[in-house]
Amino acid sequence: MAIMKTLFCNFLNLFFPDLCVVCNEKLSEGEQHICTDCLLLLPKTNFHLQPDNRLEQFFAGRIPFRHIAAYAYFVKGGSIQQIIHELKYNRNPEIGNFIGELCGENIKGSNFISAIDLIVPVPLHPKREKQRGYNQSLEICKGMSKVTGVPVDSTTLVRTVNNQSQTKNSRFDRWKNVEDIFALTDNEAFRNKHILLVDDVITTGSTLESSAKEILKSEGSSISIFAVGTAG
Ligand SMILES: [Zn+2]
Repeated sequence: MAIMKTLFCNFLNLFFPDLCVVCNEKLSEGEQHICTDCLLLLPKTNFHLQPDNRLEQFFAGRIPFRHIAAYAYFVKGGSIQQIIHELKYNRNPEIGNFIGELCGENIKGSNFISAIDLIVPVPLHPKREKQRGYNQSLEICKGMSKVTGVPVDSTTLVRTVNNQSQTKNSRFDRWKNVEDIFALTDNEAFRNKHILLVDDVITTGSTLESSAKEILKSEGSSISIFAVGTAG
């Protein structure tokens, strides 16, 4: 039966080959989601090795944090935008796991990840999560956890207000919009813990800022932030 299954998969692959989500070329055997050429060209930031990097400067004074980093630069039409688009709008949670594993490999063994107790995704409102079928940030966290061994907590921090359609608002309006939209379901879970808060892309940072503030209500907690992509 196993042979039949393999034959059937090869047959399907002949007509519907798996394509690289970045360049759309046919993937070779052993490649998943992104071809080797595109993987090598991902514009990594290595911010996790740079104290006082641009993201840390960007968040300075807004929230107290320990470290902030992102895997790669997000540019319009670039590879990270294509990957995030596939993850968010194409019902493809597997690519979130895959990119999460890449992020995990990137920061594994560094001081950035070794000090972390829990990885926490920025939550979606339950209604939104139902529409999409999953929380893309949680899928990223699962991949990071698999590689680094740091556990994921996706139940303590929740989103209570649905305010996802904010693309037309100014930064100030967005900031107003994300105040008090998060809550903690358990007052003890984050106590004295160093939390790594994870999002797909950092743009204005207002959602991260708001969720970080909620986490920091836990006594003795501290936060670091990580995203797959950063706009600048
Ligand atoms: Zn490619």
